[in-house]
Amino acid sequence: MEKEPLRALINVAQLLKEPVGSNQSYDISEVIDEEVECFVEGKAKLIHISQGVLVQCKLTAEVKLICSRCLDTFLLPISFTAEEEFIPISDVSGDLALSSPEQSEEFIIDNKNILDLSELIRQYTLLNLPMKPLCRPDCSGIN
Ligand SMILES: [Zn+2]
Repeated sequence: MEKEPLRALINVAQLLKEPVGSNQSYDISEVIDEEVECFVEGKAKLIHISQGVLVQCKLTAEVKLICSRCLDTFLLPISFTAEEEFIPISDVSGDLALSSPEQSEEFIIDNKNILDLSELIRQYTLLNLPMKPLCRPDCSGIN
């Protein structure tokens, strides 16, 4: 498998010109190689809403984890859904950024109408990982 950096940039200029409620679907196939190594596949639906774009993803991933008992590496298949609103950066005013720093990591659509799904995929993948991964339910640990 070729390793490509996670890069899921989608140009939503056309979608934003269409009436609210319009939607487009995309196939996702990405490799994450940061805190965890995994291959993510799935579908994303982008819906034009009044504030920006609502992204709904249905994803499956194979994550390379280390068993918390025997310390062996194993592959864990997970599947999950993600849903976030992306807001055009022009609507994120300086006031908002100053008054609420915790919102500065909001998902945004940049001034070239590019929406980046990679951060969404990365965050939700990490969110869906088990706290104490086990290579199998009855792993007996290091002998
Ligand atoms: Zn184990």
